Amino acid sequence: HLDMRHIRDNPELYAENCRERNYPAAAAYPARINDLFAQWHDQRRQARDLRVQANLLRRQIANPGSLDTDESPEALRIRGLTPDERLAEGRTIKAALASIEAAETRLTADMDALALALPNLTSPLTPRGSTPRLLTTIHDDPSPSPDPSPGRSHVDIGTELQILDFPAARKTSGWGWYYLVSAAAELEQALILYALARARAAGFTQVSPPSLVYADIASACGFQPRDVDGLTQIYPIAQPPSDRSPPLVLAGTAEIPLAAMLADTTLPDPAALPLRRVAVSRCYRAEAGARGVDTKGLYRVHEFTKVELFTWTAPTDAAVTEAFDDVVDLQTEILWSLGLRCRVLEMPSTDLGAAASRKVDIEAYFPSRRERDGGWGEVTSASICTDYQTRRLGTRMARGDGGGEGLMFPWTVNGTALAVPRVLAAILENGWDERERTVKVPEVLRPWMGGREKIGPA
Ligand code: AMP
Repeated sequence: HLDMRHIRDNPELYAENCRERNYPAAAAYPARINDLFAQWHDQRRQARDLRVQANLLRRQIANPGSLDTDESPEALRIRGLTPDERLAEGRTIKAALASIEAAETRLTADMDALALALPNLTSPLTPRGSTPRLLTTIHDDPSPSPDPSPGRSHVDIGTELQILDFPAARKTSGWGWYYLVSAAAELEQALILYALARARAAGFTQVSPPSLVYADIASACGFQPRDVDGLTQIYPIAQPPSDRSPPLVLAGTAEIPLAAMLADTTLPDPAALPLRRVAVSRCYRAEAGARGVDTKGLYRVHEFTKVELFTWTAPTDAAVTEAFDDVVDLQTEILWSLGLRCRVLEMPSTDLGAAASRKVDIEAYFPSRRERDGGWGEVTSASICTDYQTRRLGTRMARGDGGGEGLMFPWTVNGTALAVPRVLAAILENGWDERERTVKVPEVLRPWMGGREKIGPA
């Protein structure tokens, strides 16, 4: 499905793209692909020559004398052979052709594997390097309070109010796990229901996806079970020996099963694009490369609930940008309505991962993180993946423009509508009233919390 021709014709474009995105090993792949292609070409040429030879031999064997008028050097040579020699040569050629065919298959598979491991091309709007560009802020004051001391952390607040239980989770599952209790568990459901309602109102159709996916499906979406940089995000599943199906992994995000809903599918009606889906799922993250940072609290955990937005669009910049802006607008409105102070960032090339051509993250302000990153922490992410996922998954569409034959690949956009743990932490920290020792429930969530305005001591 990949555009191998484009890669072969533009090796330096792809290599530079890998360097800009901090995929240093992959920067060598385009040149390797061209090497392999030259070898493949050579094998094809050899096979062609052998087939010509085999053809002449066959004619001479089936009908001796049939080469008598052919004065080509090859025909002359074959005429000089004994019948036994011709039969022997026929067998040699057959074996040589079989081994060339095997080499061609191997070379093609190697080229495909390298091309699949290349990251998507980067949008011109993406800043090159590792520094994001500030696009806008949500709620007036973008700079944190002049008080430099950190605010109370959600761990302390949640523990005091008896709504977060980390010690219990340590016993059952270890570090990076948690129990939400009473008002925190209710707040989680309220956040999910609120985000789903907003997404449905914005035209997204709700889906309940599977939590396990084939490892191949995850990597087609840009999530490598064995990550190149040693940072493993994906939990594999140990399947029972009787289960002969391909390896399964826990989906780290509903983006994967949503994208894969249209794997190996040709969209019957391109005019139906954009197709919008929203799913709530439990997300599983090994966070294996992130040990040591954020080990306390809800900020970086191994399992969490996320409401995820996914859109397929026509393969044009205009269509995908419109869908992407819709997603970022929805994210902005949700965070604004929760009263969170945020900043919206155009993410730089080293932050895009494999699949995105462009990415906008929104960071919320966490009083407890004031001494780290100025208090800012990522709460949502939105990406344009162009045809990276649809090519790898085989999601096609008929050309709608009436111009030309063949199929095209729709483009995709994904984004967080709401990832529970960090937003819950931000609500606890920003809504904490030190004197009353209560947390204010954002107004938009109250209808889903039985009208409750505050979370106080148990
Ligand atoms: P991602 O799917 O990795 O783009 O992440 C989307 C959002 O999920 C982030 O903006 C965070 O709010 C949240 N998130 C990602 N990883 C974690 C984690 N390990 N623990 C808690 N929240 C996370």
